[in-house]
Amino acid sequence: MAHTEVLTTVARMREVSRAARTAGKTLAFVPTMGYLHEGHLSLMREGRQRADVLVASIFVNPTQFAPGEDLASYPRDPAGDLARCASVGVDYVFMPSVEEMYPLAPQLVTVSVAQMTQSLCGVRRPEHFAGVTTVVAKLFHIVEPDIALFGRKDYQQLVVIRRMVRELFFPIAVVGVPTVREPDGLAMSSRNAYLTPEQRAQAPALYRALCQVRALVTEGGETSISALLAHARQSVLGSMDGAKIDYIEVVHPVTLKPMAGAIPAEGIVMALAVQVGAARLIDNISIPPTSSPTPSPLSGK
Ligand code: AMP
Repeated sequence: MAHTEVLTTVARMREVSRAARTAGKTLAFVPTMGYLHEGHLSLMREGRQRADVLVASIFVNPTQFAPGEDLASYPRDPAGDLARCASVGVDYVFMPSVEEMYPLAPQLVTVSVAQMTQSLCGVRRPEHFAGVTTVVAKLFHIVEPDIALFGRKDYQQLVVIRRMVRELFFPIAVVGVPTVREPDGLAMSSRNAYLTPEQRAQAPALYRALCQVRALVTEGGETSISALLAHARQSVLGSMDGAKIDYIEVVHPVTLKPMAGAIPAEGIVMALAVQVGAARLIDNISIPPTSSPTPSPLSGK
């Protein structure tokens, strides 16, 4: 098993990253909030393949939680997380404190991406993505990676970060990694820990609904977006008692603008968020399916 070193300060993280660069090495970075599962590990394995040095961060970022959300109860397992990082060959785990990441009060600087953060999860969580882009921008400046890996499970987050990277000229290739699922189809998530056994048994209905929609298009020839939405709603409501649909939407794969009418040539993404007891579950599917991980300039390393 590789030796994994824990770093807790910005200064030390930057020192390690700069030393790697000076030695001519490439660096891959996987930001996480910990309580790691196979989804996170798949990002790390992909990063391991693509660069010489692999850095993961574990930081439960307070600014992306609204008051009343689950910041205090967010599951944590630092010892288990470090063992998991070591098992996939992470070289450095950056685990800063909140004070280390937000040393100045009040915090006057926020990085936010307009428009595409207002649909989907942005409707119910209007401040969430500004918290995400602010912390990811900070982490990018601290770690200075060549590539950064994000899961397609959080599709809106992936697209928003790509936009931030392009508009702010971060010299970083953003790689989107396919969603890792439980054997019954439920997308892996740290928040699945909130589900009761009964809710857990019903939760795979979300991905089933998305797969049915994709089959309607690829096998049934359906082209009407409103027909797809109606089918998905019915399928989710029919198979999950007590689930509250936050949204089920069809959006443009890059702009995330809600779409209606017929499926366009560039395809669509159907995304949903459903509150199941204490867990807000999200999932999405690309139609037609996209090929797995986005190639980066460093692929082949
Ligand atoms: P989180 O710790 O939830 O902030 O997630 C950290 C990273 O892991 C994000 O880029 C997520 O999109 C990604 N991720 C979380 N769950 C999965 C999954 N089931 N499959 C693939 N990537 C995931």
